[in-house]
Amino acid sequence: MLKANRCGEITQIMMGRELDGAVLYWTAAYLVDGLLIDTGCAYTAEELIRFLGEHEVKQVVNTHHHEDHVGANALIQRELGLDIFAHPLALPLVDRRLPLREYQETVWGYPEPAAVRPLPEAIDTNRYHFEVIETPGHSADHVALFEPVEGWCFTGDLFVSENLKMLRADEDIGGIINSLEKLLELPGDELTLYTAIGRIFPEGKKAISTFLGYLSGLRDEVARLAGQSLSAPEIRDRIFARETQLAALTGGHFSVLNLVEQLMPGK
Ligand SMILES: [Zn+2]
Repeated sequence: MLKANRCGEITQIMMGRELDGAVLYWTAAYLVDGLLIDTGCAYTAEELIRFLGEHEVKQVVNTHHHEDHVGANALIQRELGLDIFAHPLALPLVDRRLPLREYQETVWGYPEPAAVRPLPEAIDTNRYHFEVIETPGHSADHVALFEPVEGWCFTGDLFVSENLKMLRADEDIGGIINSLEKLLELPGDELTLYTAIGRIFPEGKKAISTFLGYLSGLRDEVARLAGQSLSAPEIRDRIFARETQLAALTGGHFSVLNLVEQLMPGK
């Protein structure tokens, strides 16, 4: 399923696989002045092509290589003949079929491999200038796009919530913190954050600061309990009461325990 929402000059394109009448998980791409940011998952690739056929799109950027951000790359190249750009580290990951976990296969599917080009330092459209900001942490190849005049920042999967309660097993919380601090240093009093889960934060710097404060408090609490010789699972249960149901659904790929383990002293 695909639904488009107009947010001023920006079109938010919400996409997700529909099964038994329900969308399993919504992912957002954005279209602004002919620039498409992310291409959704494999299951929604044809719907996206139909949508783009009715809109002007001239260039495409992937914020990172994950399967819910590059799913229509090959179809876009074939049908629309457009250039697609991604971080150099993403190039060898999107031009071949990467293994997926069972839940990823069900929710997003295998993207058709596509050869994409390395991102330049900035992307210009007719009316806007987007600086490419390297933001590793969620993945090593993650980038955000920053439009300094408008104060827009397209943050992919780097930032989704002020009080994150779980982590992907391969995420690097230290990298995420460094990348978010980098966004706080961007010029301008405020940023509007456009996230890949569809949430938009009009007071993005405030939201990031809240999140960093929350993480810092959480790290202190984990350290305090680790000082009492509690294990990571015991600390998880003490702070969060229980594991998220997503841990079982994703075979532990997403879990509260992943977050606690990365906040343990010495990590
Ligand atoms: Zn991702």
